[in-house]
Amino acid sequence: MTVLYILAGLAAIAAVALFAKTKQVDTGREKALQELSSMDVNRLSPFGSVQSLSILPLVDFYADDSSLQTEPGVSYLVRADETTILLDTGLNAKKVHPSPLLQNMAQLGVSEKEIDMIFLSHLHLDHVGGMKNQKEKTFSLSNGPVDLGPIPVYAPAHVTASAFNPAPVTTTIREPAVLKPGIASIGVIPRYLFLMGDTPENALAVNVEGKGIVLIIGCGHQTIGRILDRAGELFDEPIHAIIGGLHFPVSGGRIMIGPVNIQRIVGSDQPPWRGLGEKDVAEAIGAIKKVSPKLIALSPHDSCDWSLDQFRRAFGDAYAELKVGREIRI
Ligand SMILES: [Zn+2]
Ligand SMILES: [Zn+2]
Repeated sequence: MTVLYILAGLAAIAAVALFAKTKQVDTGREKALQELSSMDVNRLSPFGSVQSLSILPLVDFYADDSSLQTEPGVSYLVRADETTILLDTGLNAKKVHPSPLLQNMAQLGVSEKEIDMIFLSHLHLDHVGGMKNQKEKTFSLSNGPVDLGPIPVYAPAHVTASAFNPAPVTTTIREPAVLKPGIASIGVIPRYLFLMGDTPENALAVNVEGKGIVLIIGCGHQTIGRILDRAGELFDEPIHAIIGGLHFPVSGGRIMIGPVNIQRIVGSDQPPWRGLGEKDVAEAIGAIKKVSPKLIALSPHDSCDWSLDQFRRAFGDAYAELKVGREIRI
């Protein structure tokens, strides 16, 4: 009998905790929506253009060949005319030096000396080089020193340079901003996620002459619908391409603990029983089709194979595989 009382007590405590968490997420979601609607977003166009653009995935979940490292994180080398940007710095889950990012850079003939700026989409562990960096609000390319020089680092919330690469100069950019002619941040789109809480995220927009805007996205917690709304507020040019993560770990994910799909739980602004589903993927595809981009490449780091397949089928020839080592040229 005593055991039954204990079990009933534990169940009651769990139910109260879950109720409180659900309330917290509901409140956080509303607050993020209010913050979004009260943001003063000024048009950026005309903001210049670049002649050439390429995106070389250096870290992601799939690779072009088996000599390259893979992990459920993101780091992309963006070359826009003379400017080379590192978008995010990977996960480095095993805290090794050289990290998967550095190993892949060496394999692909990329030197850290080429990097002119770092753009951090958001401060989750899979984008800043690991859990320690997420906790300490910093970032690193590896678990050892990397000489970067005093390059600018743009982040959607406060970060400091780490001991492994102390020279970069960090700047918080919440508002939409032109970083160089033809290269802009679309500005923070606030979101409150179950477990992860407040998650401000930026995305990069590059205007390619004669083609239009190429959106390069980290995790896509903002939702593609809101990203496209923001792009519509900022730019006159059409959306030419959408490249990166859109966070659809619907049927399985890249970080599983037993049967528990961690990415699905942490990456939604709803409690798990109302979390991401197949209809969200369909909605996203519908929103993207409205702007008729010429190229779509979905990151496998935070979307499951089922979701990747939905995109492949929906966009046909406009769909490109996003894999480490496979350069996407615009
Ligand atoms: Zn991510
Ligand atoms: Zn994330």
